[in-house]
Amino acid sequence: MTKLQEPAYVYIGGRLRPWAEATLHIGSEAVTRGLNVFEGLKGYWRDDGSFAIVELQRHYDRLLRSARLLHIPCPLSLADMKEAIDQLAESLLERSRDMWFRLTLYVVEGHWGEGTVADLVVTAYHQDKGVPSPVNLGVSTWRRSADVSLPARIKTSTNYQVARLARIEGRRQGCQDMILLNNSGRVAEATGSCVMMVRDGILHTPPPSEGALESITLEVIRSIAVSLGIPFVQRPIDRTELLVADEIGLCGTLAEIQIANSIDGVPLSGGARALQRLQSRFFSAVRTVGADGLIEMTPVRLPAVV
Ligand code: PMP
Repeated sequence: MTKLQEPAYVYIGGRLRPWAEATLHIGSEAVTRGLNVFEGLKGYWRDDGSFAIVELQRHYDRLLRSARLLHIPCPLSLADMKEAIDQLAESLLERSRDMWFRLTLYVVEGHWGEGTVADLVVTAYHQDKGVPSPVNLGVSTWRRSADVSLPARIKTSTNYQVARLARIEGRRQGCQDMILLNNSGRVAEATGSCVMMVRDGILHTPPPSEGALESITLEVIRSIAVSLGIPFVQRPIDRTELLVADEIGLCGTLAEIQIANSIDGVPLSGGARALQRLQSRFFSAVRTVGADGLIEMTPVRLPAVV
């Protein structure tokens, strides 16, 4: 069983507080309706000894878009958000591990959209360095909700109820992650990442209109694919295409680039050639200063002694 880490500090109410004091009131819409929007950001140690966050500006922009769609005012500037990350990084970072930051705007005041006030909460968790292991994937019986029900474009916790159900289903089948189809039976996304499929050397991924989050990692992968000469095509993907694909992978901030060993119990025999090339270029871009400028990396404040 994976246990949630309990870091010493959480940023809440405008400053760092001990983990045990990071609480929300049961009367808030954050608790009663699960009302929040959030972003997951990854930071990596780099070869010059700095530690930097991937695509900070894009994450900030997507947080604002999610907030706007749920009518949650966000009074924070990019600099405010960066300061919260810096404070946590400064007190929690360890050289031996990377870090994943979750920035959540919780609705702490207001009722049914009136008088809405949100608070920025930032938690940070240590992450092992290294390349993700291959995974077994399944196709879930649960469906991604439609744009007119609970839009996948909004990154809010309530969107992850179905992802949780899919993971529970997958665990029973020995799958580390599950692919969700949309209401038309085509591929939407996985529980916390986007789906990539390689057929005949071409990388395919479904567009957000199929029920996928507007992924920042996917945009990064698009640039890497172009630089490697791998054609990148965004188009709807049928379920049966997954079963005849040469390679399947997942991508996301936390998932990074994960390669699938099998889909619905059927081994993938394509050898993951294209995905492995993308994976190794991705990791050299995040770890190496001045690698090729394909990924925007923002350095954070380091602890006095790391
Ligand atoms: N889909 C879902 C449901 C996710 O939770 C994530 C992770 N944020 C992604 C896709 C990938 O998005 P990104 O590359 O921006 O992390």
